[in-house]
Amino acid sequence: AREDITYFGAGPALLPTDVLKKAAEALVDFQGTGLGLAEHSHRSEIANTIINEAKADLASFLDIPDDYEILFMQGGGTGEFSATAYNLVGSWVANKREEIFAQPRHEDDGLPSQMQLLNDAVNNDLKLDYIITGSWSAKAAAESARLFGQDKVNVAVDARLTNNGKFGIIPDESTWKLSKDAALVYFCANETVDGVEFQEFPKVLTPGPDGKGPIVVADMSSNILSRKIDVKNYSLIFFGAQKNLGSAGITVVIIKKNLIAPITSQPSAPSMRHLGLPIPPIILQYDTIAQNNSLYNTLSIFDVYIAGQVLKKALATYPDKVSGQETLSKQKAELIYNALDSHPDVYRIVPHKSVRSRMNICFRVTKGGDIDAAEKDFLKQSTALGLTGLKGHRSVGGIRASNYNSIALEGAQKLAQFLVDFAKAS
Ligand code: PMP
Repeated sequence: AREDITYFGAGPALLPTDVLKKAAEALVDFQGTGLGLAEHSHRSEIANTIINEAKADLASFLDIPDDYEILFMQGGGTGEFSATAYNLVGSWVANKREEIFAQPRHEDDGLPSQMQLLNDAVNNDLKLDYIITGSWSAKAAAESARLFGQDKVNVAVDARLTNNGKFGIIPDESTWKLSKDAALVYFCANETVDGVEFQEFPKVLTPGPDGKGPIVVADMSSNILSRKIDVKNYSLIFFGAQKNLGSAGITVVIIKKNLIAPITSQPSAPSMRHLGLPIPPIILQYDTIAQNNSLYNTLSIFDVYIAGQVLKKALATYPDKVSGQETLSKQKAELIYNALDSHPDVYRIVPHKSVRSRMNICFRVTKGGDIDAAEKDFLKQSTALGLTGLKGHRSVGGIRASNYNSIALEGAQKLAQFLVDFAKAS
């Protein structure tokens, strides 16, 4: 039964049972309307209210400033690998064009035409920077190269290159090779597969006192709502809902408003084509979604409702909002890491100590020397105790305990106790 299980799966993740029960009712008959929430029109008052409340509650919980817009998108984190690249290249070209066309020009001054200058800028200067610290940022960089060409993608750092071909570290910022004026600098705040988390915002990306800085994009799919973030440092934050927020089906984008260029100032499709650049499918175009309060097309309002209920619960639970959640997340992660650290003969934690993820705790069971057999035994015994979902990602193997917000302190305690008991049993 549900009460007997603590599910440590990496996503979809556990959702609070009371939220699910309320959602189950809403799915059949929403507030006595005789229609379930998945049946109500996305154009209804009900839908708009649910969206607006979820936006307001998210902004409140994370302290998102007014000059940021919140979008509900479809296509998952993966869709955002493409959307971030498409849209921010669009903004880069729009800015560059404005800069070039602001210069006074005469027809016959013998200089290159403004369009030629723009073309040169795109050919020579347009770069998308990626900080690769795990499989998800690697995938995002690969998607960007697929859309724009490998020559436009600057891998500013690849953690594998200084760690024997494996993820598990974040190379020192002094080694990052950032481009000048990149269309975006992309990083993944928490690498779900590899258990690598940025412990703080990268110093080299921090805006100056004038507020100016690089265009920073962060994938927070697996650690959003678990630590305080200074939203001002970011141009764009995105995350799929299915780990700390809600059910799979919606993806949230928090974007600085001045980066959502109005449709009219976006480079037109013919001019982008002329420059040899692709434009996004309409459904991935941020200004389209923003101008329609996330209702350009049919959105799953039911999924927004679940996310909204999770936020309402979080707001009611933590008076100091995300900081309260952060304290608990840290406490739970420490319990589990301490249990692992206290038995180095039995467990080997995969990532380096300085980058350990609080959300995805990745380790190997080395007890007895036969890792395969030891991990099979570990999974069998843990499952029997109701500690489930602990198998690592298929690409890396091992064990992964995903310590998302819905894991209660008692759940983490239970796992820590099992880790100790398993290590002690011979
Ligand atoms: N980024 C991160 C950090 C993830 O963990 C995941 C999925 N686990 C993704 C992106 C991809 O998300 P989706 O499955 O929603 O496309």
